[in-house]
Amino acid sequence: MSKLEEIIKYNESFVGNKDYQEYVTTKIPKKKMAILSCMDTRLTELLPKAMNIKNGDAKIIKDAGATVMHPFGGVMRSILVAVYEFGAEDVFVIGHHGCGMSNLNTKKLVDKMLDRGIKEETLSTLNNAGVNVERWLHGFESVEESIKESVKMIKDHPLLPNDVRVHGLIMSPETGELEIIINGDIKDAN
Ligand SMILES: [Zn+2]
Repeated sequence: MSKLEEIIKYNESFVGNKDYQEYVTTKIPKKKMAILSCMDTRLTELLPKAMNIKNGDAKIIKDAGATVMHPFGGVMRSILVAVYEFGAEDVFVIGHHGCGMSNLNTKKLVDKMLDRGIKEETLSTLNNAGVNVERWLHGFESVEESIKESVKMIKDHPLLPNDVRVHGLIMSPETGELEIIINGDIKDAN
């Protein structure tokens, strides 16, 4: 059975058994918060459990590394929609120890692309268009610095209202323990 078939089969019984009933909620986050975190598999269930977040409590945005790459990219857009459209008053940027984006070997990653059939000329065409693929894929050396940068990018965003609190934290992917890097409750914390 393919993954798709497996999922569709499971889904039929999930819906048929009305297993969804315990998750029924609305699209407005009850806790008026948005979380930007990493796509790390260890955080999928651990992060909401460790923060007492249930279905309906928060808008959760995920990418590789919990980073805001660009002030006008998809992550920042999601945060602004969470704030203006869904009433988020607090934004939590939550990185984690042992992140795959820390010291990611982008040279090796590009080699893997070439091994998988991406052409050298594609890379040079992109390069000529101003996209250095290795640099674009680059993660960070320090998760703490990366969180600070993302918090600053959100906090300083020209479209973010002043009253939104932006916090930066690091989670342990083993225990779920949180460490505060930037406390957005304190004015001028950033
Ligand atoms: Zn990560």
